[in-house]
Amino acid sequence: MIRILEPDEAKKIAAGEVIDRPAALVRELIDNALDAGALNIELSIEKGGIKKTEIVDDGCGMNKNDLSLCIKTHATSKIQSLDDLSRFTTLGFRGEALAAAAAVARLEIVTSTDGKEAWLLETEPYKLTQTRRNRGTSVRAFGLFDSIPARKRFLKREPSEAMLCRQIFTEKAMAFPGVSFRFVQDGVLKLQFLSCTNTGENASVLQKRFGESILEPQERSFLHAEKTAGKGFSVTIVFGGPELFRKDRRQQYIFANKRRIQDFGMMQALEFGLAGLFPNGTHPLGAVFIDTDPAMADFNIHPAKREVRFADSGAIHHSVTAALRKYIHGNTHDYTHIKYGNEPVIKTTPEKQEGFISLSSGNQTQEAFAAEKETGYNPVEYSGSSAGNAEKKHNNIRLVGRVFDLFIIVEQGDKLYLIDQHAAHERILYDHFLSANISTQKLLIPIPFSTGNDEEDTFLQTKKDEFTNLGIMLQNEGGGSWLIEALPAGWKTTDSKTVEVILALQNANENLVERWAATLACHTAIKDGNYLDDKSALSLAESVLKLSDKEVSLPRCPHGRPLWKTLSRDELFKAVRRKE
Ligand code: ADP
Ligand code: MG
Repeated sequence: MIRILEPDEAKKIAAGEVIDRPAALVRELIDNALDAGALNIELSIEKGGIKKTEIVDDGCGMNKNDLSLCIKTHATSKIQSLDDLSRFTTLGFRGEALAAAAAVARLEIVTSTDGKEAWLLETEPYKLTQTRRNRGTSVRAFGLFDSIPARKRFLKREPSEAMLCRQIFTEKAMAFPGVSFRFVQDGVLKLQFLSCTNTGENASVLQKRFGESILEPQERSFLHAEKTAGKGFSVTIVFGGPELFRKDRRQQYIFANKRRIQDFGMMQALEFGLAGLFPNGTHPLGAVFIDTDPAMADFNIHPAKREVRFADSGAIHHSVTAALRKYIHGNTHDYTHIKYGNEPVIKTTPEKQEGFISLSSGNQTQEAFAAEKETGYNPVEYSGSSAGNAEKKHNNIRLVGRVFDLFIIVEQGDKLYLIDQHAAHERILYDHFLSANISTQKLLIPIPFSTGNDEEDTFLQTKKDEFTNLGIMLQNEGGGSWLIEALPAGWKTTDSKTVEVILALQNANENLVERWAATLACHTAIKDGNYLDDKSALSLAESVLKLSDKEVSLPRCPHGRPLWKTLSRDELFKAVRRKE
């Protein structure tokens, strides 16, 4: 049966598409503040933005008439006719955000154009009254989706919604370094970016804000900025050097006319431009700020304006790649020592050869290498010019070769050792984690998760401090909601698996520390099938063979499997009857 929806129902459904969660509301309200020319913007959210979201700005404000119109569908001051669509430079233009917000939440808008006359608009019940306020606008939204339970059910837990709001806030701040931003969450000031206009050049301002918004202070010195331009566009690229490699592309941001967009092609341009500087399997971080003549881009192809069609994306792509290549070549002295790829790496620091394996080819291996770098190991570093002349014999251990994508074969004295490379590496890492402090890496975006029952909650709560020592920082958000705020450096496992592994520690009957060291070792060790170059293979063999001096029985990995099988000269000679 077909039923025509009541206008009010239809409106709510449509509004729920425009504003599907608190972060969408945050985006629209910040956009409006920016469009109003605000220089100071404060976002505060309560309970993930669901209970309350408020944006206070010092922009141009609205007069009484505009205030009464602004919550009507298709009310906009930003375009007067369809022709304007090819000229607009504002973030908003469809005139639907405030109308949608009014349909999904209770609004209070206080605004003034001059600080002399100010008006307050309340939507439920509708009321327009005179009040006092400085120039600017405050929009408060209460009880998001209270009237649309179907939508409310789709929301994530409050900490996750808060995190999404925070991400939008950060993106907005990135693109507008001249504006001061504050973010308050449940009454606590969480982020503050002061306007930076006085550093002169635009690129450095974008670089400074980018650094503040997503990097730790000690990482910011590894950022660089380059500018380039072409017909109808100009681009500023802010990017991290190889010191800041990442295991995914989450920290690659593309902006078109100050709006963040999803553009895989531009992300690739960033990667191509920096190709060769980053180990395989790792990615650069950075932001590409594209400014284009509005007539050369269509911003109206995606409902949330997350995609843009450029008249000539090829030209922009090319120009980004070329600018980065040029930059790198002009700065080779900075980078020549950090060369990943198929060649052997880095120069020697002999006194630090304690724990490590350097891997010179293969995707996975590069990740393991990266992991070790983060773990604080010093990879064995080469002084030799190429692997060809690498010394294959060390401490009377001679590398024979590798077989079955897993075993390293070495000869020592009158024995052949077939060493399981994964198990061996795991064991070395395990010993390291037990003996040294596990170095922790704070997550820029904490991982939210929920416990399944009270026992899990109690377990996490009682072991919280112990976890901190193990490199896992947990934050109890109450009601079964938790955040993982830090993990051991080099940890590279999916979020859901990470949560699973942490909760599984509850069943660790043995010592928690040992169990965790084993888990960590297993997750960070090189895998079967990873190709170890000669030096790394030798170095690994050397370290595990040393274990047999100390241990009575055959050394084993943390799971109890032996690390190798031996074949002695005698055994072999007997096998072919050269010896009885
Ligand atoms: P759009 O931004 O697409 O024009 P909105 O629904 O977001 O549509 O806003 C409607 C209108 O309300 C805007 O065009 C603008 O005139 C006015 N407005 C909204 N927020 C603000 C603000 N923070 N300061 C000044 N004017 C505002
Ligand atoms: Mg708007």
